[in-house]
Amino acid sequence: MRVFPTTFVLTLFCLVACSTDRASDGYDIVIVNGRVMDPETKFDQIANVGIVGDRIVTITTAGISGGRTVDATGHAVVPGFINTHSHSFGGFDQKMMARDGTTTILDTELGSAAIDVFYDRHAGNSLLNYGMGIGHEPIRQVVMDGLDRELAADPTYALNTRGAAQEDGHSSWAVDVPTPEQRLQILRMFEQGILDGAVAVASTVGYMSYGTPTAEMFDLQKLAKKYDRLFGAHTRFGPTDPLPLDYSLGTREVIANAVALDGALILSHIINQGWDEIYELTRRLQEKGMVIFSEYYPAITGNPNISTPQLLPGRPELETIEITKDVFSTTTGKPYESEEAFFKEQQENPAKPIFITLRPEEWLEQWPYMKDIAIANDVVAVLVDGEPMPIETDYSEYTGHPRNAGTYGIVFRQAREKGIPLMEMVNNASYVPAKYWSMLGLEAMQERGRMQEGMIADITVFDPEQIAETSAMMTGQNGSPTEGIPYVLVAGQFVVDQGVAKLDTRPGRPIRYPVIQDEPDLDLGDEAFQWWAGYPDVRPEGR
Ligand SMILES: [Zn+2]
Repeated sequence: MRVFPTTFVLTLFCLVACSTDRASDGYDIVIVNGRVMDPETKFDQIANVGIVGDRIVTITTAGISGGRTVDATGHAVVPGFINTHSHSFGGFDQKMMARDGTTTILDTELGSAAIDVFYDRHAGNSLLNYGMGIGHEPIRQVVMDGLDRELAADPTYALNTRGAAQEDGHSSWAVDVPTPEQRLQILRMFEQGILDGAVAVASTVGYMSYGTPTAEMFDLQKLAKKYDRLFGAHTRFGPTDPLPLDYSLGTREVIANAVALDGALILSHIINQGWDEIYELTRRLQEKGMVIFSEYYPAITGNPNISTPQLLPGRPELETIEITKDVFSTTTGKPYESEEAFFKEQQENPAKPIFITLRPEEWLEQWPYMKDIAIANDVVAVLVDGEPMPIETDYSEYTGHPRNAGTYGIVFRQAREKGIPLMEMVNNASYVPAKYWSMLGLEAMQERGRMQEGMIADITVFDPEQIAETSAMMTGQNGSPTEGIPYVLVAGQFVVDQGVAKLDTRPGRPIRYPVIQDEPDLDLGDEAFQWWAGYPDVRPEGR
């Protein structure tokens, strides 16, 4: 049971007591004269927003005043953007994402091996709201590569953990099939993470395409269903695979499981080969009432680390990639000069990130038309001496992928240029994730993603005519912040004020299910569906 903060109780009181006399006000902040847009109700009107504490108390056309007045004339006032796919919770990256209008960052793909450790670490120390999935890759690294659970607790350090798992020259998590004992241990850690409040059950199976039995995926999706959690996957047989197959084959694996289980599913960055087909699949399943949706980032290049399993010597995927054309050094922004130089750097610096071209340019112009889809940047932290860049770091020092600074800037610029209704893009950026998690009972998402009275005041104020990314793959410009977003609030506190990120505030809240005080029992509820069901005499040994 959740206890509401005192401010909410006061707010409720105010809703009743103050509604007839708004001039007496008492608002901490008022945002006036903006185009207030709510993607859930489709409310779209010039109005004034009154905030008390962490809540939106009033949305009205009447004049209101408060402790601080923001004039939003000519600007859209919308629910803060919810990024469903962030692997970095570091200070600089949060600042960069705040400037892009983001108020919540969640990892539904790579995840953590230790949900309790992750939430403890970020409590009271986060600019933006933060939420974490229990993750296949880090759990496999703990169980199969012997990594420390704490080391694999935070995807901000994912490049370190991948490097550590590869230290003996063999990333067991990525390429090996677990023993039956390891399978059980993996499942147990997953269930513990769910009990600890993970927002999703997350899998980067695309990085372990040949080491993961389909039954392992089915088990993970059964676990997710058992607790009604979202299952997130970077599906296998992706664009770097040499198989004569469409990408959608690996996606159909998790979709089939979800359909059989009536489970919830988010498909990570669907924008590879077959994306239009996968989009249609998810739209048709949404029509049938299933909690299934996709997510994308607006970029034709991916951003793995140089020793990502698909690029290790001898891997079949290398046949489809031209290292001197498709693979870019993040330090120079240019392709590698030779295969030798690439493999030398892979040996010397396995955690180093790279950019890799995976998709044709024209797709970038097609994706913004997709509806009811989440938008995320898939940020991976740039680690300096093993640590994420501190919040004070200048934007020009960033060497990560430019999409991390400009994802929402890009999609809103595209929407403007293509004449896509603003509400459609606000729906994608703010409401889609909140809507689906609301259906799955996540309270933190039932009070976000909406511009409505009583909701948490996570708000982004932007100029629809000006909003655009300024980041580009060019030394010094990778981290340039999005323009046209003067104000961003998290829980009623400014994290961007007059276009400048605030460095001294940490209003970010945990996005998390309540902790359940049970032990994992690994009961996947599948007895009734086994071939011996109803015939106890033929039940196989060991079940
Ligand atoms: Zn991914």
